[in-house]
Amino acid sequence: MADQDTFFRVDGLTKHYPVKRDVRRLAGKPKVVHALDDFTLELTPGRTVAVVGESGSGKSTVARLMARLETPTAGRIVLAGKETQPRRRAAVRGYRREVQLTLQDPYASLNPLRTVAYILERPLRIHGMASGRAEIERRSIELLEQVHLTPAEQFLRKRPNELSGGQRQRVSIARALAVEPRILIADEPVSMLDVSVRLSVLNLFRELVVEKSLALVYITHDIASARYFADDIVVMYAGQILEAGPAEEVTQQPTHPYTQLLLSAAPDPEARRRGPRQRFAGTGEAPSLIDPPVGCRFRPRCPHAMESCLEQPPRRHVDPAHWAACWLLDPDEAEQSTQSPAPSAA
Ligand code: SF4
Repeated sequence: MADQDTFFRVDGLTKHYPVKRDVRRLAGKPKVVHALDDFTLELTPGRTVAVVGESGSGKSTVARLMARLETPTAGRIVLAGKETQPRRRAAVRGYRREVQLTLQDPYASLNPLRTVAYILERPLRIHGMASGRAEIERRSIELLEQVHLTPAEQFLRKRPNELSGGQRQRVSIARALAVEPRILIADEPVSMLDVSVRLSVLNLFRELVVEKSLALVYITHDIASARYFADDIVVMYAGQILEAGPAEEVTQQPTHPYTQLLLSAAPDPEARRRGPRQRFAGTGEAPSLIDPPVGCRFRPRCPHAMESCLEQPPRRHVDPAHWAACWLLDPDEAEQSTQSPAPSAA
């Protein structure tokens, strides 16, 4: 697709962090942490994409780069047909109005000394969304009502420590909505909430996506909630995407062994209807991102690993919208996996 037709796309997004005080630096090439490599994503208004992975998979790096809180090492971000210019202050401010981020811990992101009225007033004033006391109050009340904090007038006077975790997350969402963004990135938005309020907050996001035609990026370690909540799923591991496609397909017909591992460990309320699920035999832990394994990064944990996995597997399509990066999708290599022992972990 040409850039001018693009709503939002990231291509080849990469982030490497230099390793501090690396003693080996004197001896050779400086070491880096490969936090994210070649991340690609396209968003559509009114749809939710879940970025799923365990700790260290790079999913929060995706959130920070897409929110322009950090500058990528490589890659580009195209919004409304234009490539964003990370070094121009005015461009970054305009971008942040379109792309908002809500964080995992709303308490840490809300100033405990300020009232909800002040917290909502700030983005309204800074981005010129409202002016004058009466208009700002009217708009703040509307925002609180949109996130179902009513009676809104009472919530305006409260401070974050007077609110429950779920209410704080709703204030955080209202603040993000204040600038009328087109894209919302929610980084683990329910993982710190009580189980009883998680569903209501997820339902609120779903409502906003439909009503405001928002494009939502839902970042989570929980593939079970992604299955329930998202239209599309991107599965990440050790800084790379391993599988991506429509949520129904990725969760009903997982292709990559890592996706199968995640699903076999996730609770499945429909298990009785579907029958017993195959347990996946993957073992071990995520690799070091300073010296990631050569070839497929999942190789040290994969029970199907074979000689060809010492090379990076290409992305192969299972159908037009669903792809995975695994040599098992190559019929010749799949044949080899049944014949040769797995190479040792690196
Ligand atoms: Fe396993 Fe090889 Fe596929 Fe990686 S490429 S997931 S090691 S079979």
